[in-house]
Amino acid sequence: MTQFESFEKWLFPPQCVLSGQPTQDWDLADVYLQKLSRPSDANQKSCFVCAEPLAVDGICGRCLQTPPVFEQTQAGFYYTSVVQDLIHSFKYEQQLHLGRLLAQLWRPQLVMTGIDAILPVPLHRDRLLERGFNQALELANGLVGDDEVPILPFAIQRIKPTVAQALLNAQQRQHNLDGAFAVNPKAESVLSACQQVAILDDVMTTGSTLNQVALTLKTKFPHLKIQAWALARAKSH
Ligand SMILES: [Zn+2]
Repeated sequence: MTQFESFEKWLFPPQCVLSGQPTQDWDLADVYLQKLSRPSDANQKSCFVCAEPLAVDGICGRCLQTPPVFEQTQAGFYYTSVVQDLIHSFKYEQQLHLGRLLAQLWRPQLVMTGIDAILPVPLHRDRLLERGFNQALELANGLVGDDEVPILPFAIQRIKPTVAQALLNAQQRQHNLDGAFAVNPKAESVLSACQQVAILDDVMTTGSTLNQVALTLKTKFPHLKIQAWALARAKSH
C-alpha cells in the first residue's frame, strides 16, 4: 500500500457498499466477499477456452465442436447473487464506483502478461447516449493503471444497433450480431503492431458478443492472438 493509499484509507475508511458497515480492506463486507464465486477458486473447474464451469478442467463440448475465435477466456467471477446485484446497480443505476470496486476485486486474479492492448466491447451510439457510459470501458479503466496496458476504446466500432443479447436465445444471439462491429480505420496501424489483445465485456453468457468482436478483428488481422475477458461468466446452459 502506498503512502497515499494509507492516507486515503485513514481519511475515507472502507465501507461496505451493500450494508454500509465499516470494513477492513475492500468496500464490501466479508460476508459478501465470501459469496463471490470465481473461476480461479481452488475447487472450481472450467473450460480453458470459454470459462464455462465443468466437472474437470479441460475444453467443453461446445468449444470442441465450434471453437470460438478467441483462444482463452479469463473471467473474474461467476454471475451469481452478489455479483449480479452489483453489476445491475453499476449498469442500470449509474453507480460507477461499483464498476471500479468489481474491477479491483478481479484485478489480483487477472494475468495480463503478453497482452498488448485492451479493447472494451463498444456500445452502439444510441445505447451509449441512453446509458451515459460504456460499462466495459469503465471496467477497463478500473483494471489498469496509466502506465500498464493501453486501452483502445475506439478501435472497434459498433455500427449496427442490436437487440439486447439477454432477450434472445443462442441462435438468435449469433444472427443479431452479424455485421454489428467494424475495425476503426484509425486504429489499424496500432492493431497491426499488436501480437495479442484482450476483448473486455461485463457479462459473458454464450460468448457470442466477444466472439463476434474477435471475428471482426481476426478477419482483418489474422496474426492476432485474442483473449476474452469477462467480469462475470454466466452459465450458458
Ligand atoms: Zn468452452
